[in-house]
Amino acid sequence: MQRVRLLVFNAALGVLDYRVPPGMTIEFGSIVIAPLGPRQILGIAWEAERLNAQEVPEAKLRPVLATLPVPPLGERLRRLIEWTADYYCAPLSAVARMALGSIAALRGGGTTTEYRLTGTEPARLTPQRAAALDALQGEQGSIRELAELASVSEGVLRGMVGAGLLEPVTVDLDRPYPPARPQFAEPHLSDDQLAAADLFVEAVRARTFAPFLLDGVTGSGKTECYFEAVAEALRLGRQVLVLLPEIALTENFLRRFEQRFGVPPVLWHSSLKSSERRRAWRAIVHGGAQVVVGARSALFLPYANLGLIVVDEAHEVSFKQDDGVRYNARDVAVMRAKFEGVPVILASATPALESMQLAEAGVYRKVDLPARFGGAQLPAIHVLDLREQAPERGRWLAPKLVEAMKDRLAKGEQSLLFLNRRGYAPLTLCRHCGYRFQCPNCTAWLVEHRFSKRLACHHCGHEVPVPEACPECGTGDCLVACGPGVERIADEVAEILPEARTAMVTSDTMNTPAAIGEFVAMAEGKAIDIIVGTQLVTKGYHFPDLTLVGVVDADLGLEGGDLRAGERTYQQIAQVAGRAGRGAKAGEVLIQTRHPDAPVIAALANGDRDAFYAAETEARRDAGAPPFGRWAAIIVSSEDQAEALAAARAIGGTAPDLPDMLVLGPAPAPLALLRGRHRYRLLINARRSSELQKTLRAWLDPLEFPRGVRVNIDVDPYSF
Ligand code: ADP
Ligand code: ZN
Repeated sequence: MQRVRLLVFNAALGVLDYRVPPGMTIEFGSIVIAPLGPRQILGIAWEAERLNAQEVPEAKLRPVLATLPVPPLGERLRRLIEWTADYYCAPLSAVARMALGSIAALRGGGTTTEYRLTGTEPARLTPQRAAALDALQGEQGSIRELAELASVSEGVLRGMVGAGLLEPVTVDLDRPYPPARPQFAEPHLSDDQLAAADLFVEAVRARTFAPFLLDGVTGSGKTECYFEAVAEALRLGRQVLVLLPEIALTENFLRRFEQRFGVPPVLWHSSLKSSERRRAWRAIVHGGAQVVVGARSALFLPYANLGLIVVDEAHEVSFKQDDGVRYNARDVAVMRAKFEGVPVILASATPALESMQLAEAGVYRKVDLPARFGGAQLPAIHVLDLREQAPERGRWLAPKLVEAMKDRLAKGEQSLLFLNRRGYAPLTLCRHCGYRFQCPNCTAWLVEHRFSKRLACHHCGHEVPVPEACPECGTGDCLVACGPGVERIADEVAEILPEARTAMVTSDTMNTPAAIGEFVAMAEGKAIDIIVGTQLVTKGYHFPDLTLVGVVDADLGLEGGDLRAGERTYQQIAQVAGRAGRGAKAGEVLIQTRHPDAPVIAALANGDRDAFYAAETEARRDAGAPPFGRWAAIIVSSEDQAEALAAARAIGGTAPDLPDMLVLGPAPAPLALLRGRHRYRLLINARRSSELQKTLRAWLDPLEFPRGVRVNIDVDPYSF
């Protein structure tokens, strides 16, 4: 008799043993359906000795029902899944779940039905049908997806199908993606680019693990370099994964990709429609998807024949996932490349300190592009000391910055103002009684959005209309906005330069690929004079006529006080500065600050990146922070504050006393209340060489907590 151990997607169970019925063959990695009580569940066949479980007596084993008609997850991917679960102290099944992408995709069936408008426009319509007609122009999807898009019930749409307003379309999920053409538009590379590209191409051919850190200043043409490696992988018939930090960047990337390879790549991100997701997953598994461009979740997909991984803007914070499996996609990308035996390219103009350190230690091969492509110069950077050059009362832009903007406007050049704060003002209070609007679910102020006339929490999404009177003292028309957000800066620009055409770019205004595409087209077509934006505009874009960048508040990022504040500020300002002067005209950057002597501001002003990294390295060494030491956070939360605190204290009270490990806390977590849950945090600092994960598991696994308590471990947390 043959038994098989399954990894199943039920956190409470995790692992179950079954019997293989006669005539069925199951390989490791096969995805199967098995009975559980009266239900059927999915499982992945796994090497039994690698999954701890109680041996079930033979007589009790139930048979597997079927294997699904998709290729088994390969051994290399299974080892990566195990490594990730181990390293990040996450449940194995939660990691494995990411490989499946879409459960629906597994269930065979090569077609699905979607709906689209027929184009009929009857003279009389109910308001809901009229709204749906408006919202669904050019859209296609399942009834459920369309209902969500149009904000109407599925019933309304079914009625519209009956009335001939919507029609079904059969979509073939196995329709092949058109093949990319590696030789479609080969660019003429600069000498530096050629040298870098040659290294990458060679590594792709050799098909061995080779991690590269592509360290090139903004505008140096990093993309063109790694495109050569992509082209080589395509010639060899291998798949490529390109990870981007945000969907906002993909529009731009897609266009460039298409120009180079003649077709768009296959996309993978969380807002794909389910049929797109199914089609992409199937094509990835069967090899028809040649190049996949995705968010971090694309990392765990079962590629048929992976030949290269690229992580662009590799320093970006958004590669760190902060709920569910708390992993860093940049680091896991390197591990995946290692297990697969393929090269991986981390590209950035401002690499993370950890990456620089690994390059210095010889673990990564560092490849430099020290100059901008085409002879463009890096912008001149000047600091505006706000203590000496204060903006007028109630304004946020210093006279010198305003002058510079006027100058660009007169010359027909573009300016970009950067402030990493959405909304109109970060804090709203009553001028009469001092009442401050706070989120009921989070330790956070509500942020005024004049654009939508609402007060919103940026953590949980709680929103209220801007009230007419103070809820505390009842005084009418009493609200004052404290401090600036991008909306307020856009207002100020409209006041000072009413003739300028201004675009505000934040995730509130630019939240669809279409909106982003429209903005890029307008900026490129010089239909915009001044861009006011959050971090959304700091990277990726290339507007040749943009010659001035103003950093409205360089001190903002330094406030948090965590150990990464300096690095984060440096990266953000260097990136946004990198948008200036990318074409023939020279660029200038003006940084507004009250701390011109802060090391990071001084380093930016002097263009002395090495000095910045050196100072940062020393600070990290002193603090035992990465890359010199390791941190982990334990977050304990509950809706009941006393319960959360008691659990956190219980954890603190049982901390192992080890010479190479320090336990701090519990203390209220940085967001002490989040989405209605009270949160306490313990921080663990350990030596590089320590067996941190083993220690954590031995410490936490035996502890038991009330049902309302959640304990989350964050290995290598972003802030500490
Ligand atoms: P980075 O990502 O390093 O900031 P990009 O890859 O965006 O730089 O390149 C900057 C600009 O230079 C882009 O508009 C790109 O199309 C152009 N460019 C880079 N290399 C070449 C090349 N070899 N031939 C033509 N244009 C290039
Ligand atoms: Zn909130």
